[in-house]
Amino acid sequence: FQRLHLEGKSKDELYQLGITFNHMMTMLEENYYKQEQFVSDASHELKTPLTAIESYATLLKRWGMKKPEVLEESVDAIYAEALRMREMTQQMLELASDGNQRLDKASFQAADLIEESMKTMRRAYERSIEWQATPPEVTVLADASKLKQVLFILLDNAIKFSDTKIEVALSETNSHLGIAINDHGVGIPDEDIAHVFERFYRVDKARSRKTGGTGLGLSIAQRIIAAHGGHIDVQSTQGEGTTFTIWLPTE
Ligand code: ADP
Repeated sequence: FQRLHLEGKSKDELYQLGITFNHMMTMLEENYYKQEQFVSDASHELKTPLTAIESYATLLKRWGMKKPEVLEESVDAIYAEALRMREMTQQMLELASDGNQRLDKASFQAADLIEESMKTMRRAYERSIEWQATPPEVTVLADASKLKQVLFILLDNAIKFSDTKIEVALSETNSHLGIAINDHGVGIPDEDIAHVFERFYRVDKARSRKTGGTGLGLSIAQRIIAAHGGHIDVQSTQGEGTTFTIWLPTE
C-alpha cells in the first residue's frame, strides 16, 4: 500500500484530504455491510436445499430398502435439490466476481443475437416465443455472450411465470436500443416490483421453489447491463403480465 506524504501540505489541502478520506471510509463501510449481508443471505438460502437433502436422506435410510416408492421419490428430490444448490453456487460465484467484470465487446446485429437466443429457448422449452413485429436492423456494441446470458435469464423468467406466448420487441431511441420481453403471465404485485432486482428476492417463495428459481437471475442481469452503461426496467400488472426492457446505449 502506498503511504500518504503530508509534509508541506497546506491546511486547505489537508482539509480536502480529510473529506476524501471520510468519503472513502463510508464507501468501504457500505461495501463491508453489503458483503456481510450477502454472505448471511447466501448461507440462509443454501440451508434450504441442504435441509431438504438431509431429510430425504433420512427417509431413504429408514424406508428406502423396503418401499420402492420412497426410494424413487427421495432420489428424485435429492437430485433436484443438489442441482438447485449447484445453480445457486454458480450464480453466487458469478455475482462475487462481478466487481471486476470484463466485457469482451464487439459490434453485431442486435436482432440476430436475440433471434438465436429465442430459438434456443423455444427448442428447450417448447414454448411460443415470437417477435412482436419485424425487428429493425440495429448494430450494437456489446459483449455478445453476456447479453445472451441476460436474454436467457429474462426469457427463462417469462417462461416460468406464464404459460402463453412470449413476445419480444426491438426498438431504438436516439441514444438507446431497447429489447422488450413481454409475457402474459402472473405479473408482479406493485409492492414487489421495486425489489425484484435484489439478490435472493422472490415474490412467491413457495412457487419459485417449485419452478426452481434462486432469486439471483435478475440481479445478475442488471449487473451485466449496468456494466454496459445501460439499465433494465420493468412494467407489470398482476394477473395480466410483465414486460422487462433492456436499454443499451448505442454509439
Ligand atoms: P428467480 O430465480 O426466482 O427467477 P430472478 O432474480 O430472476 O430470480 O427473479 C426474481 C423474482 O422476480 C422471481 O422469483 C419472480 O417472483 C419475479 N419475476 C421475475 N420475472 C418475472 C416475470 N416475467 N413474471 C412474474 N414474476 C417475475
